Amino acid sequence: MTQKVLVTGGAGYIGAHACKALRGAGFEPVTYDNLCTGWRDAVKFGPFEQGDLMDRARLDEVFAIHKPIAVMHFAALSQVGEAMREPGKYWRGNVSASLNLIEATLAAGVKNFVFSSTCATYGDHDGVVLDENTPQTPLNAYGASKRAIEDMLKDFGASDGLKSVIFRYFNVAGADPDGEVGEFHQPETHLIPLILDAVDGKRAALTIYGTDYPTPDGTCIRDYVHVMDLVDAHVLGLRHLLNGKVADGGHEVFCLGTGNGFSVREVVAEARHVTNRPVPMVDGPRRGGDAVKLVSGSEKAISVLGWNPARSTMQQMVADAWRWHQNGGYAR
Ligand code: UDP
Repeated sequence: MTQKVLVTGGAGYIGAHACKALRGAGFEPVTYDNLCTGWRDAVKFGPFEQGDLMDRARLDEVFAIHKPIAVMHFAALSQVGEAMREPGKYWRGNVSASLNLIEATLAAGVKNFVFSSTCATYGDHDGVVLDENTPQTPLNAYGASKRAIEDMLKDFGASDGLKSVIFRYFNVAGADPDGEVGEFHQPETHLIPLILDAVDGKRAALTIYGTDYPTPDGTCIRDYVHVMDLVDAHVLGLRHLLNGKVADGGHEVFCLGTGNGFSVREVVAEARHVTNRPVPMVDGPRRGGDAVKLVSGSEKAISVLGWNPARSTMQQMVADAWRWHQNGGYAR
């Protein structure tokens, strides 16, 4: 019988790509999503169960129906700007909701948990290359909420034997090259889709959030990883758990970046090159909560999991995002 994996947020950007990767690897992904930011049309690779993480009875029901062997937890609020304005929404929507999910997972007797964490848990570290051992000092409620969930997983490991693989993502970009799923947020807040909106006139211009940072061109530097590479790492992480590589009650953290930093202006330049069109843009003030530079080491994921982020060149990420941008999108 095909093994099922419960994928929270499976109707969202990264979750939908993860479902595709799970399906490709022989698992059956069961999407659990409340569609507050996800898309019904993005659920293409397995069953859909609509539900909210705060609804414990619904969670228990879905565990009982599908009997998953593991959980992949993507569902989250993930906008730095919003987290600065409305921290309560992040503590409730990310931390309380995840607590509910973890308790439901354990109540169902499931011990394998893959969690989508973030480089936003680190805060600013003067541009050093970040790795799994870098202290976590988040600058905003988004990062703080994800760090709290990491802590929660460790605590429930000690108390109940939950085993977790925690991925700290850097900036995720690109789309499924087959065009089945892609990045589609409403409203959009992420850099590459906003650049592409400016390129094809869907918005007047890209605003650059801060041009006075202590970087060579004055704009923030991020480490971008292709969504297909990112979800490959999740399948490897799941196998790592299922093959008993994480001890009972243990957890393993992996950074998922490429080690290469790109400034906002460098991403814009690549988009100009890939689309062969101008990118209208204006300089704006800094966005609160942004770190100057977030770049990762990914040696651990490469050596321990055998991860190979081969698609994560800026050219490929922008090209795949552009193809999706021109042909894709979901209806509600
Ligand atoms: N950014 C920008 N203009 C925008 C959106 C983003 O200059 O309209 C910058 C943002 O300040 C950050 C980088 O682009 O330095 C990536 O931001 P995004 O929101 O895509 O991801 P984050 O780093 O917040 O996870």
